[in-house]
Amino acid sequence: MRATVRIAVFLISISVLLPLAARAQGNADFHRAIPSFKIAGNLYYVGTADLAVYLVTTPQGNILINSDYKQDIPTIRKSIEDLGFKYADTKIILISHAHGDHDEGVGVIKSDTGAKLMVMDADVASVESTAQGRPGAKVDRVLHDRDAVELGGAKLTARLTPGHTPGCTTWTMQVADGGRTLNAVIVGSPNVNPGYILVNNKNYPQIAGDYVKTFALLKSLPVDLFLGAHGAYFNLKEKLPKMTAGGANPFIDSDGYKAYVAEREQAFEKELAKQSADAHAGNGVGFDIAWNHVALSVPNIAESIAWYEKMLGFKGTVRGGQPNPNARQIVADLRRGDITIELFQVAGAAPLPDSRKNPSEDFRTHGVKHFGFEVKNLPAVLAELKAKGVQIALDMRDAPTERFAFISDNAGNAIELIEHKAAR
Ligand SMILES: [Zn+2]
Ligand SMILES: [Zn+2]
Repeated sequence: MRATVRIAVFLISISVLLPLAARAQGNADFHRAIPSFKIAGNLYYVGTADLAVYLVTTPQGNILINSDYKQDIPTIRKSIEDLGFKYADTKIILISHAHGDHDEGVGVIKSDTGAKLMVMDADVASVESTAQGRPGAKVDRVLHDRDAVELGGAKLTARLTPGHTPGCTTWTMQVADGGRTLNAVIVGSPNVNPGYILVNNKNYPQIAGDYVKTFALLKSLPVDLFLGAHGAYFNLKEKLPKMTAGGANPFIDSDGYKAYVAEREQAFEKELAKQSADAHAGNGVGFDIAWNHVALSVPNIAESIAWYEKMLGFKGTVRGGQPNPNARQIVADLRRGDITIELFQVAGAAPLPDSRKNPSEDFRTHGVKHFGFEVKNLPAVLAELKAKGVQIALDMRDAPTERFAFISDNAGNAIELIEHKAAR
C-alpha cells in the first residue's frame, strides 16, 4: 500500500532553499584569533581559527600564503611575530584563490612589507580589480600551472585547480622535518558554493569541466601534510589540540585527504546532476512554466476559508468582496507565500464521494488525487494539527529519504504533508 501512496503527484512544491542573502557571511571562526604554530619544518600556521594563512620561512625572508580579509591582518601579523618572525620579512605573498576571505588584504600586506604578489593567471584580473570587496592590488608575477615560487631554498609549486575560481591554486611543497621529507598540499578549494552555476554558465562556460580536472589532479597528488584554504577543509579544530598534546603530527593525514577529496567530488557530481536535470527539464518545449494554483470545489466557501486559515495559515479572499448568498457561484483565493488555492462554491454541486476521502482508496480512481506541502518537522506539525482537531487520513509513514502523512480538509480533500530528510 505504501508503494501506491508513494505514486504521489506533487501539485504544489515549495522551495526550501535559503535565499542567497540568508547565507552566512562566513562564521565566527573567520575572524577569531588562535595561537600560531609550527606545522612541520619551515611551514607555519598563522591564520585565524578558520581562514588559513601559511608562513614559509627561509634565510632570505618569508613567503605568506593568503591574506584573509583586511580586518584580519593585525591578527596575522601578531601570529607571525608570536613565532619570533618579522612581518616585515614577508618577501612573497601568494593566494589560494581570488575570494575576499583569502585575498582581500594582499594589497595592504604588499604596501606594509614590499612583498611581491604572485597570482595564478586566471585569477589575476579579479585580484587587480577595484570592485567592491576586491583587493585592487597590482600582481607582480603571473603564475601558470606547475610554476615554481622559490626563495632562500624553499620551493612551492602552483597547481591550477580551477572551478571554485578560474585561477584557484593548490600549493604543494616538500617540507624537511626531523630527517623526513613530507609532501604538503594546501588545497585551494574544491567547493561548489551555493548559487554557483555549473550548467550554461555564461561568465564561466568551462566551469564544470574545470572541476572535473581539479578532482583528477587532487587525486593524483602525493600527500603527507593535508592542508587547505579553510581550517574546516582539513579539520583544523580537531587536529590542533592533538598537535599541542605531542605525539604523532595530526596534520600528516593522507587518508583524511583522500576521504575529503572523494566526498567533495561526490558533492560536486550531485550538484552537477541536479543542475543538468533542471537545465534539460524544458528540452523541446519553447516556453517556460511555473506552478500557479490548484482548485477545489467546496460545499461552503466560508467554512473552507476558516479551515485553511486556522490549520495551515492561509489567508482567504472572496472574489468580488462580500459573497451574495444567492449567487450560483462564489470564488475565493487562499494564499500563503507563493501557494494559491482557488475555491469554488457552486450551487447544486454533489458532495465528495466517501471513496475519495481515503487516499489509499482514492488511488483506485483515475484523476488528480491530492496536493502536497513540504514541512520541516512532520511529527511536530502533525501534533499541532491533531491538537487543533485536524482529521488524519493516513498516519505518518517513514521512508528512507522522506516521511509523509495525509490529512483531510474540512470538505474531505486529501492533503499530503511531506518532510524530505536529506538537506536540499
Ligand atoms: Zn572561495
Ligand atoms: Zn574561502
